[in-house]
Amino acid sequence: MEHKNGKLYLVSTPIGNLKDITFRAVEILESVTLIAAEDTRHSKVLLSHFNITTPLISYFEHNEFSRIPKLMDHLKGGNDLAVITDAGTPGISDPAYRLVREAIALSITVESLPGPSAFLAGLTSSGLPTDRFIFEGFLPPKKGRKKRMLSVENEEATLIYYESPSRLLRTLKQLKEALGDRPAVVARELTKLHEEIKRGTLSELFTYFDKKKARGECVILVGKNDENVYF
Ligand code: SAM
Repeated sequence: MEHKNGKLYLVSTPIGNLKDITFRAVEILESVTLIAAEDTRHSKVLLSHFNITTPLISYFEHNEFSRIPKLMDHLKGGNDLAVITDAGTPGISDPAYRLVREAIALSITVESLPGPSAFLAGLTSSGLPTDRFIFEGFLPPKKGRKKRMLSVENEEATLIYYESPSRLLRTLKQLKEALGDRPAVVARELTKLHEEIKRGTLSELFTYFDKKKARGECVILVGKNDENVYF
């Protein structure tokens, strides 16, 4: 009999609002024999909300190298595996990427279940041009930040950054210094109770968030130097 590998499913999960899950995501999470999750405690809340009892195994940035062989054995044994992360689409600024590479190298089928991603929700609600955009993800936490910012200085596209709440102010300030006082948007707590899309120039946004203490998860979007964009 011909040997058949299992399938690797990349399952997008909500970025805040639990209703933002697809019917297919629930179906696949129920049907696979194992779910690899970034933070199993966090994912248990989501799974129990949908009465999904599939076993969970942790897979995160600091155990990925030791975990990959185990997960590949599972797939090579003919068993399907779903990967979820704490929020959004696996592989977008989280560790799913390496798993996908390894699966491809072993001729394992990879199937993505599309769904929420913070950068897309932020971009489409920002009011900044959507025809061209560059997803820059997280800036390096310490060295090399300015260099990375300047590397896209002359691009005619909306720039998208992920940022932690604790670094928001520093990043807004540095973006202004590197790129000029451009139109920009901070999209925070997307799909959650306190969702806020704040538009202004980089310095206006700095002043606003300097006063406002509550920050929350956010996406920073920066427009090009374009006089036609007024907020
Ligand atoms: N895989 C995820 C996705 O598809 O969006 C991103 C994972 S990354 C580790 C987490 C970052 O995404 C946060 O630091 C923040 O920049 C952004 N993010 C996630 N959820 C968000 C939300 N509800 N509102 C705004 N930004 C969010």
